[in-house]
Amino acid sequence: MQYTIRKTSILICLLLTGTLVMSQQLSFTVSMEQPASHYFHVELHCAKVKGAATDFKMPVWTPGYYQRMDYAQNVENFKVKSPAGDTLVWEKNTGNNWHITHPKQSTFTISYDVKTTRLFVGTPYIDEERAFLLPAGVFVHPAGKINLPVTVQIKPWSGWRNVATGLDSIAGKLFTYTAPDFDILYDCPFLIGNLEELPSFPVRGITHRFIGYKPGVANAPAFTSDLQKIVTTASDIIGDIPYKHYTFISIGPRGMGGIEHLNNTTISFGGNALEDPKGRIRALNFIAHEYFHHYNVKRIRPIELGPFDYDKGSRTNLLWVSEGLTVYYEYLILKRAGISTEEDMLSSFRNNIMAFQTQPGRLYQSLQQASYNTWSDGPFGRRDEKENKTISYYDKGPVVGLLFDFAIRHNTGNKKSLDDVMRTLYREYYQKKKRGFTEEELRKVIEQTAGGPLNELFDYIYTTKELDYNKYLGYAGLTIDNSGQAPTYKITRIANPDGLQQEILESWLGK
Ligand SMILES: [Zn+2]
Repeated sequence: MQYTIRKTSILICLLLTGTLVMSQQLSFTVSMEQPASHYFHVELHCAKVKGAATDFKMPVWTPGYYQRMDYAQNVENFKVKSPAGDTLVWEKNTGNNWHITHPKQSTFTISYDVKTTRLFVGTPYIDEERAFLLPAGVFVHPAGKINLPVTVQIKPWSGWRNVATGLDSIAGKLFTYTAPDFDILYDCPFLIGNLEELPSFPVRGITHRFIGYKPGVANAPAFTSDLQKIVTTASDIIGDIPYKHYTFISIGPRGMGGIEHLNNTTISFGGNALEDPKGRIRALNFIAHEYFHHYNVKRIRPIELGPFDYDKGSRTNLLWVSEGLTVYYEYLILKRAGISTEEDMLSSFRNNIMAFQTQPGRLYQSLQQASYNTWSDGPFGRRDEKENKTISYYDKGPVVGLLFDFAIRHNTGNKKSLDDVMRTLYREYYQKKKRGFTEEELRKVIEQTAGGPLNELFDYIYTTKELDYNKYLGYAGLTIDNSGQAPTYKITRIANPDGLQQEILESWLGK
């Protein structure tokens, strides 16, 4: 969110009230002398702090992973010292808040250790192989002062020589980085170790890099060519690239998941996945998904997802847009980039339809409820319950996205599509209004693009009404073939499409 805007506003503040903004200086140093112990050591040097007491907080979650993580419970050996070495008094008065009393000192150093247990893109982790520093789980911030600039110096373990991050480095200082505020710091993880960088590539004149721990890519030129096609196709949908550099950061083949950020993504990835054709499509779909998120959720976003509530989490009814439509676009991007076939793409939708239709939860939970309740239900709905009563927006979201796209194309004689909705949201809310959109504003943009109300489709969001697949697939000359004994949800072309059906299908497929 607002990377360039924040930078600009800070620059203006510096010009107008330089002394005020510069009054408080915050610099972190992170060391890791015994990787096998699974601990990071953190020091935060604070200078020119006003007042006699300051609260410092650690986020309870990291944006992109909508689960409460309570990172502060992994903090040990919390200490505060004056420059003379005196111990300052502190009290942990809530689960993630340290109240530090510094009646005479404007300069002091906070230090603590962070225990790590799990190699996952949503948690910090260190072992003998590599360190993954997830900022929300490592760095505290002065309460209410998220907008302060901050520097970070990484001291890698002596056997390691590389650091990868989306942050800008400070010239002339080894492994030292600057963030204009804590939102950006929390958005830029660090991967530290002996890393491998694949050949970088330009798109629209902007450099894109892939750096990872043991990426294991046998054919790097072929893989980076696929990445370049993905970035080119995704950025052609929106028509603009808003960052100055972008880095794909892979934490290695053993980890789990992927999380999107403004100018980087952290993924778990192993090159052996590329070696069979289906695995390659799955891996590239996953990467396209994380990449497209820098538009959809980081910039094209629900109003609730920024500024973030780092204390409680930020709930929204619109994860079906942020996650569901990102799945929709991962399939489209691969097809339009010439990486996947029509059959690959239709079979991906079929898998989502099958997963959704075979869950009893579809009759209990709407997409809007699945979005809002993910904080309690888990990212894929509740598991292990006797009677399934939840759904996953990763399944119903892309399917409803498909129906919306075909409805818009049909209603406008194929003059408009869901791409126009995404472009309008980007332009009107991210670029012009510099904020997210409400549910009402989203509906207005979709219906204006379609040229009229889409009540039935919005019922698919807000109710558990069963989806009329064939009505909407029919707009593109497609149908669900359930002619066998058990439903297979296979999507096929109808025999004799009319001109508009044919045109919609071909432009949707990117021909
Ligand atoms: Zn996602």
